[in-house]
Amino acid sequence: MKEYTVEDVKNVLRPRLGDDVPLLLFRILRIIGMRSILGESSGATLYMMGKRVGNMLPASTMEQFVDTILELKIGIPHITTVDEDHINVKLYECITCAGFSYTGEMFCDMESGIIAGLLENVLGKKAKSTQTKSWTAGYEYCEFEVFLY
Ligand SMILES: [Zn+2]
Repeated sequence: MKEYTVEDVKNVLRPRLGDDVPLLLFRILRIIGMRSILGESSGATLYMMGKRVGNMLPASTMEQFVDTILELKIGIPHITTVDEDHINVKLYECITCAGFSYTGEMFCDMESGIIAGLLENVLGKKAKSTQTKSWTAGYEYCEFEVFLY
């Protein structure tokens, strides 16, 4: 199986439909499709996928980190550096959960992985991100605690 890069998938030739897709389609694929195929392993798999994707995207400053998340419309990130090994990322308007009703479980694993992967590029350290808040857990934003090592 071939491995494709971000460059490979960049060219979109859709004169009538353009390069946007409805967020509804993304959520159907992401929340219904992937979870039903991957089952209990979906969280870990989506995190690893997100991390890999984050590592493939160019970002070498915190400003570029924020710009990339905004440009891909993953959400609106607000960063707080807790200390040199700990960064808190609040994600407003999260692509996956913003507006979702309370379910008691959190599933923004892919977003968590993308954030960790991008921060690895920016900071040159390994990163592990854990989701701590979500619309599905009763908050109006998503939150990730990222530890660097
Ligand atoms: Zn979310």
